[in-house]
Amino acid sequence: MSHDVFLISIDCLRPDYVGAYNRLRRQTPTIDGIAAEAVLFTEAVCHATFTTPAVASLLAGAYPPRTGVRLLLGQLCEPTITTVAEYARRAGLTTGGFPSNFILNSPTGLSRGFDYYRDVVDGHRSGRGGCWQTGDQLNAALDRFLTDAGQQPVFCWLHYFDLHDYHVDRTVPIHTSYPRDLRDRIDAECLGEFQTVLRRHHRLDGAAIILTADHGECLMQHGERGHGHHVYDSVLRVPLIWRWPGLTGDPRQIDQQVRHVDILPTLLDLWGIPRGEWPADLDGRSLVPLMRGESMEPATSYAEASPRQLFQGDIKAIKQFAGPEMQAIRTEEFKYIVHDNGDRELYALRTDPLEMANRVEAMPDVAEQMDGQLRDLLRGRESCFASAAIAPEDEQLVVQRLRDLGYVA
Ligand SMILES: [Zn+2]
Repeated sequence: MSHDVFLISIDCLRPDYVGAYNRLRRQTPTIDGIAAEAVLFTEAVCHATFTTPAVASLLAGAYPPRTGVRLLLGQLCEPTITTVAEYARRAGLTTGGFPSNFILNSPTGLSRGFDYYRDVVDGHRSGRGGCWQTGDQLNAALDRFLTDAGQQPVFCWLHYFDLHDYHVDRTVPIHTSYPRDLRDRIDAECLGEFQTVLRRHHRLDGAAIILTADHGECLMQHGERGHGHHVYDSVLRVPLIWRWPGLTGDPRQIDQQVRHVDILPTLLDLWGIPRGEWPADLDGRSLVPLMRGESMEPATSYAEASPRQLFQGDIKAIKQFAGPEMQAIRTEEFKYIVHDNGDRELYALRTDPLEMANRVEAMPDVAEQMDGQLRDLLRGRESCFASAAIAPEDEQLVVQRLRDLGYVA
């Protein structure tokens, strides 16, 4: 009998704002309650610095050079990749996708494998503005989905966007923390009501819950207000809380670097999908051995930030897209960043976690080694740089929607 599995991504939630990660901020009792029966990964990282490419890598289990999704809009997730929802269906689960933001609608290809996928249309306009759905709308849709699913075990992906809402208010140019009301809404309303829905359907106790964020948030670190323009840890590090009845129980912490691309192979492992049926070119690996307390070699992670043009409201940038603005390789010890203009950065993360001192010149050997790792990782994959473009919707409408969401000033 399969577990119900709920993969939850909370837009732009940094781990240090979750009580389970930061005892100084005990303000997320619902998430902390899930963490109390889960493995808490303290060094989990994403692979892109804004929503669409980050979610594509999460659901496809592949770095952006393979998904082909580097921008907010207009790119199709590489069709040859089998997504986590497609594997869930293969494992016998009924699948539901709840993206909450129109930029994740089904033309991205991210709906592949979902029996039900709730595209966001203008009729869903809510909150302070924008074409997105609030957590309570998402939870109501989940409630209906679970009613329709009857006794079938399910795999659901839910993307809660409510925390992102403060981007809309451009009259407040500087935020060094999330607005309190939005953080409370995420924990008490979005996740509290999510649990209530599961309880109503008698699915809470046996549910596997994987909670993460698509990416972090700068909160003025390195001078950035939101996210998307750089690949420092404020935006690459995400919470990852893994509750899996029968595997996790007492709260446990794993400090090794793990990645969003590891989530898909971990689920393949837990669903008992034979190794012979796993893709040969997976970017990630199963975390089941780590969760069982076995040792694993530390892994390197890849991340990138895409061009600035998109944020200037020029949707045509989609058609001119050539490559990412910067790319990074991260180990537990170092992060190496290459900009498209050739600039390079190297940070010693253990002694300089805020990434303030560029050590490219002080540690040329490390920089060279990581440069080689980056080139190895990208070799043979650049064919996806110009991925299939999606025919644009009404361009003015798209720009207006992005403005409503706070992406475009
Ligand atoms: Zn996002």
